[in-house]
This record gives sequence, structure tokens and C-alpha cells, in this order.
Amino acid sequence: MSIYKKIVLKKGKEHSLLRLHPWVFSGAIGQLDTGIENGDMVEVYAANGDFLGLGFYQKGSISVRIISFEKEVIDKNFWKRKIGQAYQLRKSLFLKKTQPLDVYRLFHAEGDGVSGLILDVYGQMIVIQSHNEGVNHQKEVIAEAISEISGLENFSIYLKSGESSANKSEKVMKGNMDDLLQVNEYGHYFKVDIVNGQKTGFFIDQRENRQILKDFVQGKNVLNAFSYTGGFSVYALSGGANLVHSVDSSESANKLCEENIRLNKLDEKKHKVITADVMNFIKNIDNQYDIIILDPPAFAKHQSSRHQAAMGYKRLNTEAFCRIRKNGFLFTFSCSQAVDRELFENTIRAAAIESRRKIKVLAHLGQPADHPVSIYHPEGEYLKGLICFVE
Ligand code: SAH
Repeated sequence: MSIYKKIVLKKGKEHSLLRLHPWVFSGAIGQLDTGIENGDMVEVYAANGDFLGLGFYQKGSISVRIISFEKEVIDKNFWKRKIGQAYQLRKSLFLKKTQPLDVYRLFHAEGDGVSGLILDVYGQMIVIQSHNEGVNHQKEVIAEAISEISGLENFSIYLKSGESSANKSEKVMKGNMDDLLQVNEYGHYFKVDIVNGQKTGFFIDQRENRQILKDFVQGKNVLNAFSYTGGFSVYALSGGANLVHSVDSSESANKLCEENIRLNKLDEKKHKVITADVMNFIKNIDNQYDIIILDPPAFAKHQSSRHQAAMGYKRLNTEAFCRIRKNGFLFTFSCSQAVDRELFENTIRAAAIESRRKIKVLAHLGQPADHPVSIYHPEGEYLKGLICFVE
């Protein structure tokens, strides 16, 4: 008995779902029930009639995103169970931490079992971000489910949905909303503009890498390129950097960056914010930085632009390698999902070769444990980084 409309795959196209990978590509679809619309829940079957999974339908190259490999009803109890499990995992992750932390990712899309659903916690606020129409259709029931999970009952809820204008909607779904929230990340304070900021307001995913940076900066001159609201800059100054330059093209991010330096009572004389295009800026620096952080936006939005993106990363990193001081450290990142770790690291190697400097890799960096990756969906590992030592 079907509960939802049906999609039957072509013969032989069931293998990726049998391996628990949650995406069905349009080319795999044999038959669709009539009247299936964007965002509808559908049941997916193999050509031989075996049930494979349940997911959201969306027109496009990824046609179905599976949210359950069991035949079940997707109702409030489903969301309570899914989000409740994600919350328990976060609680166990952060239990042993002695430092205060009230900003983290509560639910990370495929990593927690639902493609397109992001939940970020900022103090007493949960931000729902939906990246597909299916999650968007479920937003009311998701908000109700959150309110019934023990420990999350009193959180305010804000919906920040949609990257495309088609499903863009924003609103306070529960409780109150301040213009600027203040959060505490391991004893560092940040003002976060959820409504106008990028992503859900803050780059939560760089938390552990900011901590790592802090141990490198004592007495050093630091360039934080693509600084956004100053995450790495606050840690660098509080770790004893001699000077920190934060460079970003966004005026509003730079304003908040300055505010965040003040908020942490750090020495403003050691910090300068520069509004500029990093590519232009970096070509004109001359050996004054011991540490450079490169955390650019995703250069590749799609698989098709991954090689062009790799060229962009190469140019940027070559400039940084060429211009960093002797015995300097480069913290370099890519958050493009389409550029996997192998391509990223090969690209950095190519940049190193071009720079003719002597370079060692000290550490491979990535996303923190509150951004888990389903082992069946390796594409979920989107944040890659390296610490390089440049002799
Ligand atoms: N490291 C930051 C996050 C960086 S996000 C943190 O930890 O919070 C990427 C940033 O790059 C955004 O703030 C965006 O405004 C900025 N950006 C995008 N293109 C740019 C360019 N060409 N030059 C300078 N900044 C750019």
C-alpha cells in the first residue's frame, strides 16, 4: 500500500539507493505518477517493485532526495525523532567541553539524514534554513516538532529559507527576534546578524579551526583574508597576534568585524579592517605577514564549474605562497562541495610548485563534528583545509 505518490526507477538504477546514498538523479527515473509537484513526498521503487526509500521530489538533476529508507509516515513524530537524535548527538559532543559554547549546528542536512534541512543554534534562537522545496513544505511541522523536544521547548525559531527567490521566505515562527544576537564561542563573543548575514548569520563550521589558529599567532603578523565578521581575527588577537588585518569586500561584514573586536575588548590599535577584493589586495602585499588565512566563498556552486574553481584556488594560493614571510604559516580552505579533498589538495600542490617555495603540510583541516558527514554520502564533506609551513 502506498501512502505517497510513486516513482519507479529504470532497471539497474537502484544500486546507489541500496548503498544508502540519498540522491536519485533524473536519468534514473523510469516512471512517475501523474501530478507530482516540486517539494512533494514520493515513494521510490526499483524496477522489480522493491521499495527503496521515501523522499522529496524536485525538478532538476537531483530529482529525489531520500529522507527515509523505511516505509513510514512523515509527520511530526518523524521530525521529533530525527531532530531529537541530532540534538542528543550534539549534547554528547559538547558534554565534555569545559569552555562555553552557545552557537552550534543542531542539524546538518544529509549528515543527519535530511537533505536540505539546516538547523543552527544561536543562544536561545534556532534558525531553520531550507535548501529545497520539500523541507520548505514541512517548515510548520518542523517548528512544532522542535518545540516538543525536551530541552528545546523554550527556543525562539526563525525561518531563513531558500537561496532561490522561488522559495524565499523569512519570518519569526516562534518567540522574539533581536536585530543583532550575541553568541559565545569558547569564550569569544560575536554579534550575529541572522536576517542580513550570510548563511544563517555566522560561519559556525570554522569554530575548531579558529581554535587551532590561536596556538600559532603569538607575536605574529596575521592577514585574515575573506574575514567576514572577524571570526579568525578575534581568535588571532586574543591569541596574542602582533597585528591582524581583516580583508573582505562586504562593508556590512567589515562593520560587524570591527564591532566584534571591540566586544571582546581586544586592542583595536593592533587591528585594521580593509574593504577590498582579496585577489587585488594580495597581489600588492609584500612580505609583511607571518600568517595568512584564506577562507574564500565557494568558487564552485556546481560540479560543472569545479575545474574553473580549482584554477581560482590555484591563483589565490600561489599569490599567498609567494608573498608570505619566511617560516610563515598558510591556513587555506575551500568550502566548495564540488571540489573534493583530492582536487583541493592537488590544487594547493600546484600552487606550491608554481611559487617555488619550500612548503610542508602540517595538518589537514575540515568541518567540526556538529557538521557530520554520512559515510554513504561523501559529498557531505564540503569544508577542506590545510595548514602549510612555508620555509
Ligand atoms: N572566514 C570567515 C568566513 C568567510 S566567508 C569566518 O570565519 O567567519 C567568505 C567571505 O568572503 C564573505 O564574507 C564574503 O563577503 C567575502 N568575499 C567574497 N568574495 C570576495 C572577494 N573577491 N574579495 C574579498 N572578500 C570576498
